[in-house]
This record gives sequence, C-alpha cells and structure tokens, in this order.
Amino acid sequence: MADESDVLIIGSGIAGLYTALKCAEFANVILVTKKGTSDSNTNYAQGGIASVFSSEDTFDQHINDTLVAGAGLCDKDSVEMMVKEGPDRIRELIDIGTQFTLKDGNLHLAKEGGHSASRIVHAKDLTGREVERSLLAKISENTSIRMIENAFAIDLITEHHVNAPSKSNFTCFGAYVHNTATDKINIIRAKFTIIATGGLGQIYLHTTNPEIATGDGYAMAYRAGAQLANMEFIQFHPTSLYEPDGTRKKNYAFLISEAVRGHGALLRNKSGKLFMTDYDQRKELAPRDIVARAIDAELKKHGDDFVYIDMTHLPKDEIADNFPNIYKKCLEMGIDASCDYIPVVPAAHYSCGGIVVDKNSRTTLNRLYAVGEVTMTGVHGANRLASNSLLEALIFGKHAAVDIQNRINETFNKVSIPEWDDSDTITADEKVMISHAVKELKLLMWNYVGIVRSDLRLQYAERRINNLLKEVKGIYKRTKVFSGLLELRNLIQTASLIVKGAQMRKESRGLHYNINYPALLKPEGAITTQSKLQNYS
Ligand SMILES: Cc1cc2nc3c(=O)[nH]c(=O)nc-3n(C[C@H](O)[C@H](O)[C@H](O)COP(=O)(O)OP(=O)(O)OC[C@H]3O[C@@H](n4cnc5c(N)ncnc54)[C@H](O)[C@@H]3O)c2cc1C
Repeated sequence: MADESDVLIIGSGIAGLYTALKCAEFANVILVTKKGTSDSNTNYAQGGIASVFSSEDTFDQHINDTLVAGAGLCDKDSVEMMVKEGPDRIRELIDIGTQFTLKDGNLHLAKEGGHSASRIVHAKDLTGREVERSLLAKISENTSIRMIENAFAIDLITEHHVNAPSKSNFTCFGAYVHNTATDKINIIRAKFTIIATGGLGQIYLHTTNPEIATGDGYAMAYRAGAQLANMEFIQFHPTSLYEPDGTRKKNYAFLISEAVRGHGALLRNKSGKLFMTDYDQRKELAPRDIVARAIDAELKKHGDDFVYIDMTHLPKDEIADNFPNIYKKCLEMGIDASCDYIPVVPAAHYSCGGIVVDKNSRTTLNRLYAVGEVTMTGVHGANRLASNSLLEALIFGKHAAVDIQNRINETFNKVSIPEWDDSDTITADEKVMISHAVKELKLLMWNYVGIVRSDLRLQYAERRINNLLKEVKGIYKRTKVFSGLLELRNLIQTASLIVKGAQMRKESRGLHYNINYPALLKPEGAITTQSKLQNYS
C-alpha cells in the first residue's frame, strides 16, 4: 500500500508541527508520528524559548552567550541567523495563539544559567505543552496536512531499496512506515522527506526524555547514508528529581528546570553544604555541563545518590506561582519546596550532535531534510545554551520550508518502490530478550559513556555494543517488526554512534569529558575536529 504527498514529515514535536504548518502554505503534507500527536520531548519543555526582547539585552549578547557555551565548536553564521530571526518566530507563535506568560502586558522574560540577560520567553513552567497545544490546534484546522498517529517510520527509502542508477549521491523517496494500530507496513512516497524525530535520552538509564526519545531519526539517517556529527556531546541536565529505586512510575525522570536556579535556588550536598563555590565562580548559574560534573563529583566523593536543590529562602507564593508544575509534583512526593530541600540527580537530557544539515536544513542526501533536536545545525557546538533548542527548531523549520518551496517544482522521477517483504519472518515470542537488551544498554551507556568518560570505559562499551548490534540484526532479520524491536534496533545503532564520536574526540570539550584527555585540543575554530560519522554501505 502506498500513500503519496509533496512533503512527508516524521515527528510531531515543535520541529515537525511548525515545519508542517509552514510547508502547508504551498504543498500537501503527510505528518506521521509513532504514538499520539503530543507524545514528544516538546511537551515536557519547562523553561522556555531564548530570544532577545528586553531593552537591556542585545543580539550580540545572545550570540556571545551561545558561542561561549558551545566551547569553540559553534558555527557562528548559524548562531547569528538563529538569534536574529528568533523574535519574529516567537511573534509568529503568539499570532497562532500560543499564550506566553506576560508581565504588565509585555512578555515576561526569565533568566537561566549561561545567559547574560533575562531572555527566556515562557508559559509559566509548562512552555512546551503550551507551544505543542497551539501548534496542534492550528494544524487541526489545516486541510493540507494529514496527521497519522501510531505510524512508526522504520526506514527511509533510498536507492538502496529501489535499485535506481545513482550509487553515490543518494536520494530519499519517502519512508516505510509501520502502522502500529493495524500492524500494516505502508510506503509513504514524498518529493521531500523531513526527519523531525527528536532526541535519544532513552539510551541512558537516567533521562528526562519521555519514552519516544529512542534515537530513531539518527539511526534511520545513518542507515540511509546521511552524515552525522558531534554525537558525543550529550547534555546531562544537572537537576532531575531523584526518586528512590522502585518508586518511579515512569521510565524517565521529572525535570527541576534550570529556571529554578535562575530564580535563586541553591545546590547543597547531602550534608547541607553549598558546594558550587568549590567548582565555578558563577556558582549555581554556571553552564549545565559544569554544574552536572560538579554534582557528579560530589556524589562520587561522598558516595551519595543525590544532592539537594534548596528554594526554602524564597517566598512560598513566589515558588507556587512561578513553578506551579514543579511545586505540585514535589508535593505529590511529600516534598514542600517552600520548606523542604528537593533531592536531585543529573540525567541525560539533550543531544547536541546529530544529522548534519546546512542553513536550509538540507542533509547530505538529496531531498532529505532534518529539523529539531535530531540535527547538527552548528548552533550548539559542544554544549547547548539553555532554551536554545525550541528556538533552533523554529528557525531551521522555517528555513527548510522556504527551501522546499523554492524546489517544489523540480523534476522528480517516480521510481518503483518494492512493498515491504517480511515473508521469511516470524512473530516474536521471546520479547523478554528485547527488554533485557534495552536494560543492559541503558546501564552500559550510563556507566561507561556518561558524564565522565575514559578510553577504557569507551572500549568496553564499544565491544559490548557491537555484540548487541549483531544480536539485534539477527533478531530483526527473522522477526516481524513491532515497536519494541524497532526501538531497540535504533537505540543500539544510535548508542554506537555516540561511542564512535566519543572515541574520535581526543580531548575534553564542552559536554564531552574524557579523563585520558582532560585538556582542549585547540581552543578556537575547532570545527575542523568535528567527529563525522557516515555509513557508506
Ligand atoms: C524535560 C525537558 C525539558 C526541556 N526544557 C526545554 C526548555 O525549556 N527550552 C528548550 O529550548 N528546550 C527544552 N528541552 C529540549 C526540547 O524540549 C527539545 O529539544 C525539543 O522539544 C525537541 O523538539 P523536536 O520537535 O525536535 O522533537 P520532539 O519534541 O521530541 O518530537 C519528536 C517527535 O518524533 C516522533 N518520533 C520519533 N521517532 C519516530 C518514528 N520512528 N516514527 C514516527 N515518529 C517518530 C515522536 O513521537 C515525537 O512526536 C527540554 C527537554 C525535556 C525532555
């Protein structure tokens, strides 16, 4: 069975939804998403979107803060583009109905770590949910967009599948998509395909990312031959809520947003000592990698499971008013943030690397674009500045749509695409093997490819992941596909890319810290040392 559209978008977070609306102005769009429409990282974003609106702020300051956080690996032109176009994209969100928090009729601007001015546009501490709500509402009115839920993109369709002549300059013709409700696998053909599948936090034992973040887009793009880079730069959020073993109901952690520290909250170790002064003069407002490593060091030094975040010096109504979601969640756990310290641990949060794209969001494959967290646009470098990711998704989503509009009438030869063939496969009866492999991978990545790495740990991880890759390839070949298997295949593939990237980088920079190479290789202009990964098979 085949469906057809001008543009196929995979993913319904901010990147997919916003780009769909932009593309629907000139084309018909099919948007597939593997679960429900609002199952996304976007829906969990708390802090907000960074952009220059204050008279006490300038584009140059936002650009500089972003470059400083990126530790010499940002692409300055892309950062400038993102920062300068930010206010227009936010006004556009307001125009479509996003309700940001206001103060005296103007946008209320919060401050977060690494930012030299107040510039975080937000909707209380539920920014992502509000953005997702407003984009979905707008899409529901748009007849040029067909949204398909429970539609799991398995693989991109390229010359590998259709035996078309080109063998070096691959073109994407759409994707094979598993409808998890009907258990059918469809071909969706498109003139242009956009990957907007978000991040990969579920590769790690502790993560703030919900279940959908299994690295599918990175793995699909890699298998199709697109270039990826900087996969080693995983941002660990310093403060996710600590829940003792066995008490957490979901397999991801609740985030205690950066904005809480921006608002004056302090970090104490288990003995109550304020420890950030021992690590960085910016203390609680140092960039995330520094705070996460400081917490990791405190935990290792004292053998503790968590440190505390302390808001008890702030007025109760100020906490409840500014952070209603966090305040409520803590109360549910018996913690009153106005008089109790909140136990926190670092957790995998954001992937700075990904599919390499240019300023128009084009990947290295013809007719394949990528937007959002799954990309490496050059704006984050070795470390993302807080609240720059929702912004990046909007800016590069807009550029993708403009570029596709300019190319929409280019000649596109219709090739014959074979139906999905699973005639030699059987239905899985040993699903325990899948869940076991997922658990093993998460623990392995947490312990050996986490906040602090070493050559030996990476070697061990590489060996074990290569074995897992082989085992899963074997299972995949002989088994009818289902979500758990598809996700495991992508988790392992993406984990192997992180390990490869980490092994290629013979230095410590930004989010990548290897005790065998504690220094920077080259302080500035190190873009040439990007760890590029490409599968040419
Ligand atoms: C707890 C939390 C708080 C955050 N706070 C902030 C913040 O304050 N500010 C900020 O800028 N950033 C924040 N971030 C990061 C930001 O939310 C994400 O980077 C951003 O939302 C990513 O958007 P996206 O559209 O690229 O991906 P997502 O929002 O994750 O959407 C990906 C979509 O792709 C779908 N999908 C995945 N694989 C497949 C497949 N194989 N087939 C079909 N569909 C698929 C998913 O189901 C989902 O719909 C936060 C992240 C988390 C987890």
